[in-house]
Amino acid sequence: MGINVALDGPSGAGKSSIAKKAAASLGYIYVDTGAIYRSVALFMLRNNVDIKNKEEVSAKLSEIDVKLEYKDKTQVVVLNGEDVSELIRTPEISMAASAVSAIPEVRTFLLDLQRNIARENNIIMDGRDIGTVVLPNAQVKIFLTASAEERAKRRFKELQEKGDKSTYEEVLKDIIQRDYNDAHRETAPLKQAEDAVLVDTSDMDFDRSVEKIISVIKEKTAEEKLQKKKEHELMPIDPVEPGKNVNCFLWIVHQLFRFLVWIAYKIWYKVEYVGTENCPKGGGNMYVCTHRSYADPVLVSIPVRGPFRFMAKEELFKGNIFFKWLIIALGAFPIKRGNGDTEAIEKSIRTMKKGRNFLIFPEGTRSRDGKVGKIRSGAALIGAVSQTNIVPVAICFEGRKLKFRSRIIVAFGKSFTPAELGADSTSPRCLKLIKNKISQELNNLVNENVKKL
Ligand code: C5P
Repeated sequence: MGINVALDGPSGAGKSSIAKKAAASLGYIYVDTGAIYRSVALFMLRNNVDIKNKEEVSAKLSEIDVKLEYKDKTQVVVLNGEDVSELIRTPEISMAASAVSAIPEVRTFLLDLQRNIARENNIIMDGRDIGTVVLPNAQVKIFLTASAEERAKRRFKELQEKGDKSTYEEVLKDIIQRDYNDAHRETAPLKQAEDAVLVDTSDMDFDRSVEKIISVIKEKTAEEKLQKKKEHELMPIDPVEPGKNVNCFLWIVHQLFRFLVWIAYKIWYKVEYVGTENCPKGGGNMYVCTHRSYADPVLVSIPVRGPFRFMAKEELFKGNIFFKWLIIALGAFPIKRGNGDTEAIEKSIRTMKKGRNFLIFPEGTRSRDGKVGKIRSGAALIGAVSQTNIVPVAICFEGRKLKFRSRIIVAFGKSFTPAELGADSTSPRCLKLIKNKISQELNNLVNENVKKL
């Protein structure tokens, strides 16, 4: 199956032109299902069938052969061998299409045709019930809409360019009527699929709308790929051998830096270190630390001899340039949060292999009240892949924020390895073992040390 994008929404929301452009830019096929309903309507009108009469319409369906063909990537609608692409674009056919599309037999008749196109290709299919009925398993579902007035304005302009004499009021009335028909029919009424992304283009121009649709598609297909990867592939173990040290130059620079920062922090805060004997001698260890403030990475690295690298949320690298360079100098590298940034995970492993220590805040966000939050899977995954020493660290101080001369306790717990827990792979069971152990150790450290404040 290719990538299926279901694009639904009311008449005149710009679905076809937006989808056409987005499809061209992504190299997908654009499937305009409205054109199929329009062809059925054209056939019925040409054959003097009463389009309000269900039985009459249903009886005639067997005489219809509609095909969508693609010439130079442009859709051509072929009705019983005739190219009707242009003929179906009149207000009269729009209304008739809305009427015939309310007949269940017509919808069933056209269902397979639509599904077959989607089966083999990467497509953007636009319609009214694509996400809900035709392609309920589409990887991407978008509901594109705009206010009735805005849609009428756009359609009116289009019709004028074609020389049509309809007035704006007529076009608006038509749109409101078709919205009503589409939303109130019994079979497959127009409605947003639960898992569809809503895009309202009332305040967007054409290019912006196309960009928005493309970005939703890219985002959703990337999520889908990641999900698949997570389900089907366990990340392989890539063990780090702790104990290695960084090169001499980096070592000296780090010691100097550590000394200066230590003096500054001694003046600024009242810091007490507990359990520093638990810090392994060489590098290549992973420190998992509770997160209370922006000072945390420095607080942890002062008593540890080897230099650190740590992950910081991507957003921090986009703001103030001074801050960006400061955190880079301190050893930060960016992580995209919330979706298993494999690149950042691999980078953390490489960093430990080079003899640096790696610091991670497994709760993902800062804790305001000092309690240990939920441990995320990222830290457990890095632990499982690297199989290195994991050193728990708790940062304890009173209140929500650090202040001048705040008393801080930084407590290092006993290190453990994933192998000791029986976590020898990246399976969900092993990640859970590591996560639970981190949570337990951090909670113990915090509970023991807050008492001393
Ligand atoms: O999108 P377009 O305006 O070309 O569609 C013509 C009519 O066909 C719509 O008013 C709607 O009633 C009907 N239609 C539908 N289901 C689709 C596509 C179009 O009911 N998937």
